Amino acid sequence: MSSSFDLIVLGAGSGGIAGAVRAARHGARVAIIEPDRLGGTCVNVGCVPKKAMWLAADLADASRVARAFGFDSVAAPHLDWQHFVQLRDDYIERIHGSYRGRFSELDIEMVDGRGRLLASRDGLHRVAVGEREMTARHVLVATGARPGRIDLPGGKLGMVSDDVFALRECPRHIAIVGGGYIGVEFAGVLRSLGARVSLFTRGPCVLRQFDHEIADALGNGMTHHGIERHHGARLAGASRSDGGYSLAFEDGSSADGFDQLLWALGRDPNVEGIGLSDAGVALDDKGFIAVDAFQDTNVAGIHAVGDVTDAPALTPVAIAASRRLMDRLFGDEADRRLDYTNIPTVVFSHPPIGTVGMTETEARERFGDDVRIYRSRFRPMRGALAGSEQRSLMKLVCAGSEEKVVGLHLLGEAADEILQGFAVAIRMGATKRDFDDTVAIHPTSAEEVVLMT
Ligand SMILES: Cc1cc2nc3c(=O)[nH]c(=O)nc-3n(C[C@H](O)[C@H](O)[C@H](O)COP(=O)(O)OP(=O)(O)OC[C@H]3O[C@@H](n4cnc5c(N)ncnc54)[C@H](O)[C@@H]3O)c2cc1C
Repeated sequence: MSSSFDLIVLGAGSGGIAGAVRAARHGARVAIIEPDRLGGTCVNVGCVPKKAMWLAADLADASRVARAFGFDSVAAPHLDWQHFVQLRDDYIERIHGSYRGRFSELDIEMVDGRGRLLASRDGLHRVAVGEREMTARHVLVATGARPGRIDLPGGKLGMVSDDVFALRECPRHIAIVGGGYIGVEFAGVLRSLGARVSLFTRGPCVLRQFDHEIADALGNGMTHHGIERHHGARLAGASRSDGGYSLAFEDGSSADGFDQLLWALGRDPNVEGIGLSDAGVALDDKGFIAVDAFQDTNVAGIHAVGDVTDAPALTPVAIAASRRLMDRLFGDEADRRLDYTNIPTVVFSHPPIGTVGMTETEARERFGDDVRIYRSRFRPMRGALAGSEQRSLMKLVCAGSEEKVVGLHLLGEAADEILQGFAVAIRMGATKRDFDDTVAIHPTSAEEVVLMT
């Protein structure tokens, strides 16, 4: 067992694994430290199990649509939760196995435990795991983030997002506190699977960072879906009795009768207990590890990627930043780094959202009056045939005399799958004219993106 490496990685999540594998492919000797399950948040308590639940919810919705189409053999959807959880866990276990295989194929040493930086000595960085001490020229900190809780009476009651994946039956009536993407996604999934869902947000709408029309349209879609939304809810505390969970608000009102309570309040970076101050690594003013555009911290040879930094908290972002960093450190690509502009992202809401580039508000702040907005609102064919009033909204944000497309925001069926290709076009600098000159694919929802006038 060696104690000297080219790279030591703290955290085998999205960013850590991608970095370890890329560095090893460049010939570096790599150790990766992880106290928990391989794959981190995304694989175990994030994207993967969440998407599995979203797919189950989608099938439940589809079976309702099928009945409206006239399929009389489709029974009212009821999920055998135990069966589904087994499928989901088996899928995740296969991912763990493939990581283990890759580590062994590339001679990456997996170290079980919690890594902690020590003060560097003789030009080498030192990391402790229990009693073991290891050294390396480079250290990558990719320790991610964890769900936040609220500092109010009863703030420790109820679930955070990690706990949703331990549920063994659908909640009867769940209170979800928080209107960011995690709150919105679980609200939609659990509603489709049969729960009554009450969503409480402090602000005036869901998804406040998103384009305002898309956020409003999603709010309407959620109501249409049967989710009870309560905005401007200033929480004073939570409690639990035989009747379930209750929420109390600053204005003296209350809400009760919930068998489950979920806090969806954002995430805190895992910066404690990892020896950052011993190694001299600085945090930024929000408490994340401060990095420059090359993922370098203030200490030469110590780098950070992913949710422990103030980057968009998305798996592909952590992976892309980490791979580029390793290309630079071990692959002789001196200028390689991630360009953080035009990062596409999807919210797996009901209906889903796909968004890339500037919101209308951001574009108007940047370009003033030199902004033109194109919109399309329509009822997608499947829903329209089934008598649903649910509408899709597509919005193009263009700037300058050439009408360069600087933002694309989609809400509706298949938005999650439609966006990726358009993100390439926007990254390449496409103009509205390029969109107009592209022949539509008919009949689809996607064609609306190239047919807006
Ligand atoms: C409910 C939910 C749904 C999400 N859905 C999506 C989605 O659909 N699409 C998307 O792109 N993103 C999604 N995300 C975000 C995505 O999961 C994260 O952005 C991504 O996992 C960040 O990767 P990371 O490597 O920075 O951290 P993580 O994947 O969290 O990995 C960090 C790892 O570090 C380990 N660690 C902590 N301390 C130490 C230590 N001292 N030593 C060694 N290891 C340590 C942790 O155990 C963990 O395994 C979702 C997140 C949540 C919570």
